[in-house]
Amino acid sequence: MEIKAGFAGSVGNTPLIRLEGLSAETGCEILGKAEFMNPGGSVKDRAALWMVVDHEQSGALKPGGIVVEGTAGNTGIGLAHVCNARGYGCVIFMPDTQSREKVELLRTLGAEVRLFPAVPYANPENYQHQAGRYAASLPNAVWANQFDNLANRRAHEETTGPEIWRQTDGRVDAFVAAVGTGGTLAGVGRYLKSRRKDVEIVLADPMGSALFNWVKHGRAEMSPGPSITEGIGNSRVTQNLAGAEIDDAVQVTDQEMVHMVYRLLREEGWFFGSSTGINLCAAVATARRLGPGHTIVSILCDTGAKYQSRLFNGEFLAAKGLRTD
Ligand code: PMP
Repeated sequence: MEIKAGFAGSVGNTPLIRLEGLSAETGCEILGKAEFMNPGGSVKDRAALWMVVDHEQSGALKPGGIVVEGTAGNTGIGLAHVCNARGYGCVIFMPDTQSREKVELLRTLGAEVRLFPAVPYANPENYQHQAGRYAASLPNAVWANQFDNLANRRAHEETTGPEIWRQTDGRVDAFVAAVGTGGTLAGVGRYLKSRRKDVEIVLADPMGSALFNWVKHGRAEMSPGPSITEGIGNSRVTQNLAGAEIDDAVQVTDQEMVHMVYRLLREEGWFFGSSTGINLCAAVATARRLGPGHTIVSILCDTGAKYQSRLFNGEFLAAKGLRTD
C-alpha cells in the first residue's frame, strides 16, 4: 500500500506535524497538517481534484474540455496540474495584485493566465465573474467555481477531516484555519463536529477581511486593512462557508504573521507562506485561551517559495513597515 496511483492518488494523506517550539511554549500540542506536501504544493490540490472529478461525473466536462477558474493562485496551480494529468486545458483569471511567482508558475505549468485589475466582488468586472462568463461562452468548458462549488468543501469533509481524526486518534480539541473559499474550514469542521460535537472550530482572519466580524457579530463587515497575505480573507460568506458551525474567530495582524513565519524559519527550519503564519498565530491564541494540555490542529497551507518577492523580500516588508525580528 506504499505506492500511490499517479497525480490524483498522490493528493492528500499528508503528515500531521508537531510544531515543537509552539507546543513547548503553550503546553499544548500544536499540530500542522502538512498540505504543502501535496503534489502541487498546497492545500488547494484537494479542492482542484474534487471539483474536476465533480464536473466529469456530472457530464459537464468531457474529454479535451477546458477548465476555467478565478483564483488568487493556489487553486489555479492545483487545477493546472490536474488538467495536465487528465487531458484538459486550463484558463486562469486572476487579480493583478498577486505575487509574480504564482503567475510565472501557472504559465510554466501550461495554464493560460489572464490578469485583471482587482475590483470588489460586487463589480461585474471582478475576476471571478469574468471567469464564469468566459466558461459559459465556450462550448466544452466548465467554471470550477471554487467559492460556491460545494465539491471544494466535500474534498475536506471526505479526506482532510477524517485524516486529522485518525492521525490524532480523535484527540483534537480545536481546529483553526484561515478562510479563502472556506472549503478547508467548513469541510474539516463538518467532519470533526460529526465525530465529536465539542471540537472547537476557529476561523483565523487577516486584516481587511469581513469574516472576523461575521463570526463575532453576525455581520460580514470589513475590518481595517489591507493585508499582505494572499489567498485568504473574504468580503463575503461563500456557499462553502455558509451554515458552517464556527465557535470562534481570531484576528491576526500582518506584523504578528511576519514574526511567526520568520521565527519558524530561523528557529525551526520551516519555510511557510503567509496564510500558514496567520493560522499558527491563531492556533497559539487558541491554545492560550484553552490552556495547557489541549490539542490544536491547523493547516500548513503552502511553503514560502511563492512569496520570495513579498513576504521574503526585506525591501518590500520595510516599505510596508513590517519587521522580521
Ligand atoms: N492558504 C492559501 C495559501 C490559499 O491559497 C488558500 C486558498 N485560496 C487558503 C489558505 C484558504 O483555503 P480555503 O479556500 O479552503 O478557505
